[in-house]
Amino acid sequence: MKIIDGKMISNLIKEEIKQEVEKIIKKGERPPHLAAILVGNDGASLTYVGSKVRSCKQVGFDSTLLKLPAEISQKDLLNKIHELNNDDKIDGFIVQLPLPNHIDEEEVLMTVNPNKDVDGFHPSNFGKMALNMESFIPATPYGIIELLKRYEINTSGKNTVVIGRSNIVGRPISILLSRKGNPGDSTVTLVHSRTKNLESFTKNADIIVSALGVPDFLKSEMVKKGVIIIDVGITRVKDDSNSKGYVIKGDVDFESVKEKASFITPVPGGVGPMTIAMLLKNTLFSKNL
Ligand code: NAD
Repeated sequence: MKIIDGKMISNLIKEEIKQEVEKIIKKGERPPHLAAILVGNDGASLTYVGSKVRSCKQVGFDSTLLKLPAEISQKDLLNKIHELNNDDKIDGFIVQLPLPNHIDEEEVLMTVNPNKDVDGFHPSNFGKMALNMESFIPATPYGIIELLKRYEINTSGKNTVVIGRSNIVGRPISILLSRKGNPGDSTVTLVHSRTKNLESFTKNADIIVSALGVPDFLKSEMVKKGVIIIDVGITRVKDDSNSKGYVIKGDVDFESVKEKASFITPVPGGVGPMTIAMLLKNTLFSKNL
């Protein structure tokens, strides 16, 4: 069994990006610039955006954090997005999700200029991704692809089961792994909350990508020997013995499943750190558009 070390690979990618930034600066150009819009004061969102901004500094990017009040109107938020769309000094930006209930998320994501859409959520980028055209790829699935690549895991002809069909993880990774290419060329089954007898699919899977957000959902008896496990789940579970009052859990019952797996990502330290690294990679790509 080999543990896939997302922390180590993400640091490697950040180092590679830093070197690219140094080359850009040597040419006399400005570094890539990532902006983030944060609406409201959600604790988890603040943490995520904070670490995105810190990572920009680490690789030499410029960054801007726009903190907007939770009660901002749809119109004012769209105006902010138009400002960023038209700002030549900003290469890419993200709108941190989730947004408050009164905001129409779909309209917000549709307003982002596809050439600055480093989250890859705009239908134009999502469509290009599905058609195997060059585009921004949503950071978490992009991170999974990169982990498979760097660990030289062969996905061709493999039975791959993706658990969860969200627009940001399950659906895009199912498309990416079924595309022609490497990693790709998998026979992908997408299972979800309406799937009957889910175990019958996971038991036959060579590769399982789990993105449902239910701690310890995938048990040892649901997988076959030699399976490759990519655990995307991140759930805070109350734990008073921990100084933070919670622990982070993945979707996979790691201790039992690892005995059967040939490769497995831990939580934390697997897919999580890759997400930010790939957002930075998308921003570097946007600088050249
Ligand atoms: P989501 O809540 O949008 O979607 C969950 C999906 O799981 C749905 O398609 C649902 O049908 C399916 N599902 C739920 N319960 C199920 C069950 N019992 N059986 C089968 N399918 C079931 O989730 P999301 O945004 O894709 O996030 C999934 C998990 O991944 C969460 O824990 C989230 O925190 C985590 N996540 C991690 C990263 C990262 O950087 N590592 C990024 C995004 C999301």
